[in-house]
Amino acid sequence: METIWVLPDQLYPDQSALASATPATARVLLLESHAWLARRRYHRHRSALIVSAMRHFAQELGAAGWQVDHHRFEDTPDHETALKRHVARWKPSRIRLMEPSDEPTQSALPVWSRRVGVAVEAIPGNQFLMSRDAFRHWAGSSRSLRMENHYRRLRRELGILMTPENEPEGGTWNFDHDNRRTHREWQSDGCPLPRSRSQVIPDALDREVLRSVAQHFPDHPGAVDDFWLPTTRRVALEWLRHFVEERLPGFGPYEDLMVEGNGELHHSILTPTLNLGLLRPLECVNAAVEAYRRGKAPLSSVEGFVRQLIGWREFINGVYWLRMPGYESVNELGARESLPTWFHSGKTRMQCVRSCLEQVLGTGFNHHIQRLMVLGNYLLVRGVEPGQALEWFNEMYVDAHEWVMAANVLGMSQFADGGFMATKPYAAGSAYIRKMSNHCQGCRYDPDQKTGPDACPFNYLYWDFIARHEERWARNPRMAVMVSAWRKKPESERAAVRESARVHGLAGEG
Ligand code: SF4
Repeated sequence: METIWVLPDQLYPDQSALASATPATARVLLLESHAWLARRRYHRHRSALIVSAMRHFAQELGAAGWQVDHHRFEDTPDHETALKRHVARWKPSRIRLMEPSDEPTQSALPVWSRRVGVAVEAIPGNQFLMSRDAFRHWAGSSRSLRMENHYRRLRRELGILMTPENEPEGGTWNFDHDNRRTHREWQSDGCPLPRSRSQVIPDALDREVLRSVAQHFPDHPGAVDDFWLPTTRRVALEWLRHFVEERLPGFGPYEDLMVEGNGELHHSILTPTLNLGLLRPLECVNAAVEAYRRGKAPLSSVEGFVRQLIGWREFINGVYWLRMPGYESVNELGARESLPTWFHSGKTRMQCVRSCLEQVLGTGFNHHIQRLMVLGNYLLVRGVEPGQALEWFNEMYVDAHEWVMAANVLGMSQFADGGFMATKPYAAGSAYIRKMSNHCQGCRYDPDQKTGPDACPFNYLYWDFIARHEERWARNPRMAVMVSAWRKKPESERAAVRESARVHGLAGEG
C-alpha cells in the first residue's frame, strides 16, 4: 500500500494526490510537527487554526473510509521523526503528495526520502487556478511583471465576467472610479456597515487544540480564548455565504477604508480558510459572480473581489515560484534598520499604526490596506530590512504562508525586488491615511505638520525615503515628480526632514 501525504494547507478531498488514490490503495499521512510550529513566534490563532483544521479534516477522511495516520505535534518533534515512525510502522511502497506550496518543503522532500529510505514523490497540484509551469511560460524572460496583464489573461482564459465577444463585462477591466471611497464619503453615505456574522463557537476539538497550543507556545502572541476562525469547510462555507450576501455589495466602494475599532468592515476574511484548502478559489469567484448575475451585488464590487482572487492571489503565487529560491533575501533598496521592537507590543503613539498593531496582535488579522498602507508603508519609509519585515508578517497573520507573504511583503509592500512586480513603491505620507481613515483624529501627532516633534512621522519619513533613494527614483517615471519636488524644497526644509527622521529613529517611538 502507498501513502498519500496531505500537507497542512492541502485540506480538501479532491486535491490531486488524494484524487489519484482510493482508500483501497493508499493510507493517508497527516503530520503536525512541534518544530514546524515553533520555528517562528507564530500567532497562536494561526497555529490553532491550522492544527484544528487538520484534525477536523482527518476525521472527515476517516468518515469517508480512509485509513489516516495522524501525527500530533504534542508527540512529534519534527517531520523526519514522524516520517520514520510512519515508514517503520506501515512500510509504504512509496509516499506521494501534492506539490508543496513552498520551496523549502519542496527542497526537503529528496532529503527526507533518502533518510527514511522510501521514495517521496510530489505530483502537480490543483491548489491554484494557474500552474507554476503555465505562469513561468507566460512570464517568459520578462524583467518585470504586471499583475494587470496576468489578470486579464487569466480572466479571458477562464471566461470569468466576460461577454460572449470575450470582452470584460461592463466594458472595462477596472472599476476604481466606483470603488475606494474615502472615510468622508463613507460618512456621507451614512457609514454603511454589513450585518454582523454569527460568532464561531469553538467545538470540543478546537478547544482541545487551543489548550494545547497555549500550553506549548506560552510566549507566542494571541489569546486563545479569543479564537474566532472557522476550522471546518462547513463553517468556512457559511462565511462565504455571509460575505456574498452581506459584505460583497459594499466591498468595492469601501475596499480601502479604515475605521478605528472596526478591522473587518466589508472584507471577506476568507483567506485564512482559502489558504488551507477549506474553500476553493473558483467556488468563491463563482459565488460572487452569481450574486452579480442575480442583481445582488454591483459589478464594481464583484470585479474587485475577482481581481483579488484571480489577479493578486494567483499572481503572487506565480511570482513566488518564478523567483524562488533566493527571493526571500532580496533587498534592492539596501534597507538595514531593525524591525522596531514595539511591532511586537503595539506600544506606539502613532494612532494608525497602534490601531493596526493592536488588531493584529489580538486577532492575527488586518485587511490589505492596513497591511500595505499603514504597517508596510511605515516599515518601508523607515528603511527596515525587508527580511525582518517578512519574518514579522509571517509570524503575525492567520493567513500567512511562505508563498503568499514573500511576494506580498518583499515585492509589493517593501519594493525589495526593485520593481519586479510593482511600478512604484507603496510609500505615502499622512495624506493617504487621513483621507481613507479616521485614525488621525485621535492621534498625538499632527498630520499637517511636516517636521519636528509634533509632526506626523509618515510625513518626514516619506521625504527622507525619497531622499535616501533619490537617484533611483529619478529614473522611475512614476516617482520622478517626487524627486523634482524634493529637489525644489529649500535646504532648510530638507535638513529638517533628515533631522526629524534621524531623531524618530533614535527615539524609538515606543
Ligand atoms: Fe497616523 Fe500620522 Fe495620522 Fe497619526 S497623524 S494617525 S501617525 S497618519
